[in-house]
Amino acid sequence: MVKKNDQLVVTIEDIGSEGEGIGKYEGYTLFIKNTVVGDKVLVKVMKAGKSYGYAKLLEVIEASPYRVILRCDKAEKCGGCQIMHIDYAKQLEYKENKVRNCLARIGGFENIPMEPILGMEKPYYYRNKSQFPVGKNKEGKVIIGFYAERTHSIIDTDHCYIGAEINMPIIRFMRSFIEKYNIEPYNETKHMGLLRHILIRVGYTTGEVMVCLVINGRDFPHKKELVEGLRKIPGITSICLNINTAKTNVILGEEVIKVWGETYITDYIGSIKYRISPLSFFQVNPLQTHRLYQIALDYAGLTGDEVVWDLYCGIGTISLFLAKKARKVYGVEIIPQAIDDARTNANINGIENVEFFVGAAEEVFPRKHNEENIKADVIVVDPPRKGCDQKLLDTIISIAPKKVVYVSCDPATLARDLKYLNANGYELKKVRAVDQFAHSSHVETVALMIKV
Ligand code: SAH
Repeated sequence: MVKKNDQLVVTIEDIGSEGEGIGKYEGYTLFIKNTVVGDKVLVKVMKAGKSYGYAKLLEVIEASPYRVILRCDKAEKCGGCQIMHIDYAKQLEYKENKVRNCLARIGGFENIPMEPILGMEKPYYYRNKSQFPVGKNKEGKVIIGFYAERTHSIIDTDHCYIGAEINMPIIRFMRSFIEKYNIEPYNETKHMGLLRHILIRVGYTTGEVMVCLVINGRDFPHKKELVEGLRKIPGITSICLNINTAKTNVILGEEVIKVWGETYITDYIGSIKYRISPLSFFQVNPLQTHRLYQIALDYAGLTGDEVVWDLYCGIGTISLFLAKKARKVYGVEIIPQAIDDARTNANINGIENVEFFVGAAEEVFPRKHNEENIKADVIVVDPPRKGCDQKLLDTIISIAPKKVVYVSCDPATLARDLKYLNANGYELKKVRAVDQFAHSSHVETVALMIKV
């Protein structure tokens, strides 16, 4: 009988849905983070249930051939990278299998038409947005870094291997600036102090960089010296303040004040230009996003004559990308600010054959279709992790477009929804996974369903 605090030796046989290793001790299943298939490890049981439990890695006795030396010495504590200890090619295989297994087990699909996963060429320094919390340690020293997994204790670091490289000189400068001018970091428990977070956004194509200081106040001291120092770092085009005086763990407040340059940066996905402010949603890995959308466009097989719906459209990135090959694209999104951004983005790119609606996809789409008789040749959906609303799937089935292109960030809900479409007249034609988040367990998928 396996009990809490037992120390056991196990061999890892599989990888779970969150990237954790799975091993068996005399038939009893243990989930163990920071391990990989092929590892022989000494672990300590932290939690033991009836049929399975969770254990902590104490020592790698024999390393798996898929184990690599961790570049980042904070990776095991930080919540950002769950599988950095796994060789990148193996990470991709794991993600592709995760999609295939979901489609088989949850979706009930056989002979799955999977194309090979599209990995990143450079799986490091890819994120275009990083938010560093600022605080003080017990000795009163300024610390800047990341939250440890599931907590708000800050891990002090200058170096993140998945954030943009320019983050490092910016954080080094900010650290010395805070110390030199005695800027008080924000204390969450006491709701006191000034500087809460340092937000950095980078335009990968344009090279433009934003530094936004999130403050519990309305002004920041020594702005002249701040600007002088930051401007020595090449690329910075925007320095601003975000006001957040609320006692909340939401990072950003609503108001943005310009300190120097613009209050936004620009970047591209393919040939479409975007204006990105501190508050805008924008895909964190635009290079892989471009490739993901290229697959969606390819699957949609547009000839220039189609009416396309982009449901759950966010800031309209897919809509604008498809517009050049479609007669008309309609986007639907529930967050009004995202639709404001979508319309601005359409304008700055001179794209006129798109129209955006605010509201729930499952409400707006059937209404517009019925009342205004707007047709749908192709429907693209890109829902949040919980997948599509049942009512929306029923509407799609009754309207019966030729093609449904499903972009998904969760293979389990993707499989559930595709199963439903499959049971109601659609066939799975193609599916392809794309890695947008190297070293995390997340995977994006595009699937093409055709009306039979
Ligand atoms: N393709 C988009 C991202 C989609 S993420 C982009 O690149 O910007 C999923 C989006 O669905 C989010 O923007 C979320 O606000 C929106 N959403 C969630 N529930 C919704 C609903 N019921 N109807 C419409 N949009 C919804």
